[in-house]
Amino acid sequence: MTSKLVLGIDVGGTGIKAQIVDVEQGTLTAKRLRVKTPQPSTPSAVAKAVGKLVSAKELRVAEIAGAGFPAVIKDGVARSAANIDHRWIGTNVAEVLSEATGMPTTAINDADAAGLAEMRFGAGRGEFGVVVMVTLGTGIGTGLFWNGQLVPNSELGHLQVRGRDAEDRAAANVREEKHLSWTHWAKLVEEYLLVLDRVLAPDLVIIGGGVSATPEKFLPKITIRPRLVAAKLGNDAGIIGAAMYAAEASAAVTVGPAEPG
Ligand code: BGC
Repeated sequence: MTSKLVLGIDVGGTGIKAQIVDVEQGTLTAKRLRVKTPQPSTPSAVAKAVGKLVSAKELRVAEIAGAGFPAVIKDGVARSAANIDHRWIGTNVAEVLSEATGMPTTAINDADAAGLAEMRFGAGRGEFGVVVMVTLGTGIGTGLFWNGQLVPNSELGHLQVRGRDAEDRAAANVREEKHLSWTHWAKLVEEYLLVLDRVLAPDLVIIGGGVSATPEKFLPKITIRPRLVAAKLGNDAGIIGAAMYAAEASAAVTVGPAEPG
């Protein structure tokens, strides 16, 4: 039987975080460990950083791990690379990280992971219809849900707004790098969400990423038709969801579907 304690890893464009997750409660149990993402963030450099990070004693209580990764992930393999080194494209992220952690490790898009956690334990709990989790960080990630079911790799942070990639205009790092006021940045996020609404007509938009810790600074300044809320798990959603995904994948292998006939 799989333990409820799973090692969650969040590989970001800026930092790599690791923490033990109680996947039944959706909570974090051990101290969060973090290192800066190596630059260039090649597969070997990231694997080395992850290996070092997860060698910490407090993380050695898990037997499986799940990683959120900032790319399209199909069957463990990265198929895009916007905020991570392009050498990841075609690389089996799950395999590379399994080797780095020394335990079976799954890989899932980081925003899909955050969405899974919010849908089960956070702001999306019990929500039906079209729900979009939007993570605003180094880039814009999206996790798309229909009646609680994930539609993976939606990549709606790359929608075009005024002829430009949305994440180049409205990601959280743009506010910091350009020293924009919260009001100015909120308007850029609003423009993006208006485009998102035109394309998808969501019922609910959940805003995640580090900025979701201070929603009062920007959410009231945004007016859109769909309901708009901050992630309840804040920036932890990604790590929790990545671990949940690993637990589900390992349960699927252990239990599996019934044999036909
Ligand atoms: C990537 C997505 C990722 C998002 C947030 C984007 O640039 O294309 O896959 O989810 O950044 O990290």
